[in-house]
Amino acid sequence: MSIPLTTSYRLGLTGWPLEHSLSPTIHTAALGASNLDGDYQLFPVPPLLAGAGALEELIDCMRRGEMHGLNVTIPHKQAVLPFLDGLTPVAQATGAANTIFRRDGQIIGDNTDVQGFLTGLKSFAGHLFLDGRSRNPHSAPHALILGAGGAARGVIYGLVQAGWNVHSAARRLQQAEELVSAIQTSPGSGDGPNFLHLDILPLDRAAISDLLPAVSLLVNTTPVGMIPKVDASPWPDGLPFPPLAVVYDLIYNPLETAFVRAARAGGLIASNGLGMLIEQAALSFEIWTGQTAPRQAMQHAAQEALKPV
Ligand code: NAP
Repeated sequence: MSIPLTTSYRLGLTGWPLEHSLSPTIHTAALGASNLDGDYQLFPVPPLLAGAGALEELIDCMRRGEMHGLNVTIPHKQAVLPFLDGLTPVAQATGAANTIFRRDGQIIGDNTDVQGFLTGLKSFAGHLFLDGRSRNPHSAPHALILGAGGAARGVIYGLVQAGWNVHSAARRLQQAEELVSAIQTSPGSGDGPNFLHLDILPLDRAAISDLLPAVSLLVNTTPVGMIPKVDASPWPDGLPFPPLAVVYDLIYNPLETAFVRAARAGGLIASNGLGMLIEQAALSFEIWTGQTAPRQAMQHAAQEALKPV
């Protein structure tokens, strides 16, 4: 892959597939609103093993200074790690990188999904974090997380670090076990007693129902309900929502999933994942450019792109 040096900031995204990504729209708006020259391109790379050479070549472009920054999405957030020279503590702890940058000649992987999620959640339900209960496992609030894939790792890591009791509900318990084990043995895991309060359960009605009264945060990290299958929901059929929970769906396309719609219909406050998307992008932009990201312009561009036609 040959990338000519034609602009000030050469940024991009790798993953597979990428056709529906909003990242070029968001980052192009950020460059424009910041009066910076540059572009943000898509570099589709098929899953490994087929894509290994192309992924390595992209990282080499960064090593040669031909690119300033690279975002990484499904399925390469973990696959990219062996090609990097170092990881930030959060990328190491989650075992995933979504933002690659060059510092002192080294190619470093970071994970802005974690802070992106926490900031997105706090901006919509900050009261959940303001009651001073964190770090006391007996009074810490309980979060129920649906799904145990790449995004769940960041969400769960962020919540346990913030002092939550976390319950990871997955259709494949082995995947949840691996997630919990990776987080419990991650750097910094000895810092907080609440790492002990992370358990797993099957994503089904029988397993979840006993937990409901205690849950104050319910997060969907599965792709169930994304365009085009907008009528699907990850929530088990016939199960009432936790009566006191705030609901957060990482999906942002559509802006209101069936899951969010049902939660709102049941009287709960519920958010899509647009805030997280914007914040993780803003943090990447700040790492690459050293400038405060123009979050409003980024959000406006994303909302325009997501408007139904
Ligand atoms: P992933 O690594 O593929 O993980 C998806 C998880 O969902 C896996 O645990 C998977 O289980 C589970 N799952 C899939 N279909 C399911 C079903 N029908 N029932 C129950 N569980 C199911 O994907 P990801 O990277 O975590 O992304 C997940 C979603 O989060 C996507 O919609 C993505 O767009 C969104 N996301 C949003 C943001 C944001 O900024 N808002 C950031 C990251 C991700 P199996 O392994 O058994 O299939």
